[in-house]
Amino acid sequence: MGTTLLSPFDSIASAISGPSNKDGKLAKNIIFLVSDGMSTGTLNMASMLLQRKEGRQSHWLSLYEQNHVRRALMDTASANALVTDSAAASSSWGGGKRVLNGAINVNADGSENTPILQKFKKAGKAVGIVTTVTATHATPAGFSVTSKKRSDEPGIAAKYLEIGLDVIMGGGLENFSPSLRKDKQDLFSTAKQKGYSIAQDRKSLLALENQKTLLGIFNEGALPYSLDRSGDSGLIERTPTLAEMTRQAIKTLSKNKNGFVLQIEGGKVDWAAHANDVGALLYDQIALDEAIAEAIAFAEKDNDTLVVITTDHGNANPGLFYGAKANDNFDRIQKFRHTNEWVLNGIDKNTTTAAFIEKLEAAQGYAIKQEEAKSILQHYQQLDEQGLYNPRKLPYKYLAQVQTAYTSVGWGSMDHSGDYVELAMFGPGSELLKPFVKNIELHNLMLNATGVSVSS
Ligand SMILES: [Zn+2]
Repeated sequence: MGTTLLSPFDSIASAISGPSNKDGKLAKNIIFLVSDGMSTGTLNMASMLLQRKEGRQSHWLSLYEQNHVRRALMDTASANALVTDSAAASSSWGGGKRVLNGAINVNADGSENTPILQKFKKAGKAVGIVTTVTATHATPAGFSVTSKKRSDEPGIAAKYLEIGLDVIMGGGLENFSPSLRKDKQDLFSTAKQKGYSIAQDRKSLLALENQKTLLGIFNEGALPYSLDRSGDSGLIERTPTLAEMTRQAIKTLSKNKNGFVLQIEGGKVDWAAHANDVGALLYDQIALDEAIAEAIAFAEKDNDTLVVITTDHGNANPGLFYGAKANDNFDRIQKFRHTNEWVLNGIDKNTTTAAFIEKLEAAQGYAIKQEEAKSILQHYQQLDEQGLYNPRKLPYKYLAQVQTAYTSVGWGSMDHSGDYVELAMFGPGSELLKPFVKNIELHNLMLNATGVSVSS
């Protein structure tokens, strides 16, 4: 199960590329960072934004500049699709096998693949997941549990406690709270009985000291976009950043003498890409980049940690496109204070053109034309009462199309792509990485890197 067929070129590939782990020692810990739905253009524009705004390179690309990591391209297909969803993508890493889109470590014939965090737990390591979306969302679930449907998040939440994940952090209060769960189960008190430290806001998370297990749920649904959070003192007080959650997760798990395995996900990079929301996209990518810095800082000191940095699939394939004003247009994003989602959620069918133009200018620093505003507002006349807050219904597409003239950022789609994606590794075990791999190969690579038996 999950064993990859070695191609004759394998040995050659490892000999010709990048830094290696000369002493071939085993990794004690793994920190696996995922920017969900990150096309290469997203990585590239986040780097350009940081360089022009703060005069520094992104942490991800600094690792490339300093030749600190092995780098590869990864094939992201699932069992039935060249373009995967997040559930099948994470299952390819988590279970070592390609499954149908929408499934979590369950094969088409109903048989199940043992998730990697359960294998590491059995081997005595501490295990955990951290994300900016619901803690039970597809990517963290793909490392942890089996589920016929990714949508069964209440079921996945209960399974997290059954298998004893040591750290669980993210959003999704509705999957843990008795007042919000359909079955009225109180997973917070279940966790308390199992000895978990519980945090439901940033202050209590940062105050934790001696916890060995931690359940941190900071919002109903996903956490706010990083850009909207940074402009709102209430959100800053209530919700931690991905980097802060990463630091507390490492602090908690590293108490285990047999080591730990931790997945960190910037989950809303994907949501922003689906919405063609450039401010949400780039500032959430930068939030993931800050979490990379936390992981690398720990690994550089610890010397026993394999850090994996990647994405599960491309999304929307955005890019900065040619034009006389491309530099100035792109630099506008430095002044953004709010996302398109924040703007579009703040208006309704009664909002006047002038008020909309004013709101967008206050949020993003540029004034669109009357007819452009009208072309967006008209969509609110078509929304039904229930649909107002459904992201799929808000006129993201039309705002993004107007916005391209002001940012020079263009979009290929509002959905996942089948592109081969970026993958980088740092530390013991990184020498196992070849320049081109299939997503499923990471399962055994993680087991081999830590010396945990492949057939466990
Ligand atoms: Zn995804």
